Amino acid sequence: MYYKKILILTSLVSMCFTACAKAKSTGAKTVEEPAAQVVINPEIEKLNRVLLSMSPRCKAAIPNGDPEEFLSDLHKVLEVKKNFRTDDLSLYYLIDKKHSVGSDYVPKDLMPVKGNDLWNVSRNDLSLRPEAYAALEDLSRAALNDGIKLLVSSTYRSYQYQEGLFNRYVKQDGLELAERYSARPGTSQHQLGVAIDFGSITDDWGDTKMGKWVYENAARFGWSLSFPQGYEDVTGYMWECWHFRYIGVEACKFQKKWFGDIQQFMLEFIDAWESQN
Ligand SMILES: [Zn+2]
Repeated sequence: MYYKKILILTSLVSMCFTACAKAKSTGAKTVEEPAAQVVINPEIEKLNRVLLSMSPRCKAAIPNGDPEEFLSDLHKVLEVKKNFRTDDLSLYYLIDKKHSVGSDYVPKDLMPVKGNDLWNVSRNDLSLRPEAYAALEDLSRAALNDGIKLLVSSTYRSYQYQEGLFNRYVKQDGLELAERYSARPGTSQHQLGVAIDFGSITDDWGDTKMGKWVYENAARFGWSLSFPQGYEDVTGYMWECWHFRYIGVEACKFQKKWFGDIQQFMLEFIDAWESQN
């Protein structure tokens, strides 16, 4: 049992080690039988390949564990995608400073998010993808049970809206600072229709009753904090306690268990996994 507990990264290192040992043994006449007989699950080989392509910081965030268990959890996350509409972008779609969508991308069947018994809104032109809308209902019901009515302040934003917003921030704060807190058009999670900014959209919201509740409970309903504190070099953005992206409950669990609860690491991994055969 304990013996079987292999590090994912150790298995990666040992694979390299095996290769090196083979090369060495030819010259040094060592009669070692390296791991040649060990049957390696081809998915573990793929896992090693994908992990090798990840950033050192992402690799460092992945805890020790059994690769088979990791793969089983990964497949649960990928399986969930089938429950969501498949004729639109994946819920795990990677969008960041290096990955974008076109100016014409609009999620299908955006649902208007009006103020109601479950939540309040800051403006009247809000909308979300149906999956995110349903998850907002679940989150808000649970919040109400705890005596908190959520305030939804920003949701889907079109490319053109984001363009105006970004340009305004650049004028206000200069390009360098604006880049740290606002996405260029085409690179915002808001254009995907699965992100919500809650409350006042200011740092102090994190210390409010609502902010603390959302932070503690969001993942149970599939909402993930996108830009956590101390990860600007990873996400590209300063800490945003108010910004959550809907990725589903299974992905939230996966993120927490294997990626130090950092959404960016997990989405980068899934992107790399799906783009490799
Ligand atoms: Zn936001």
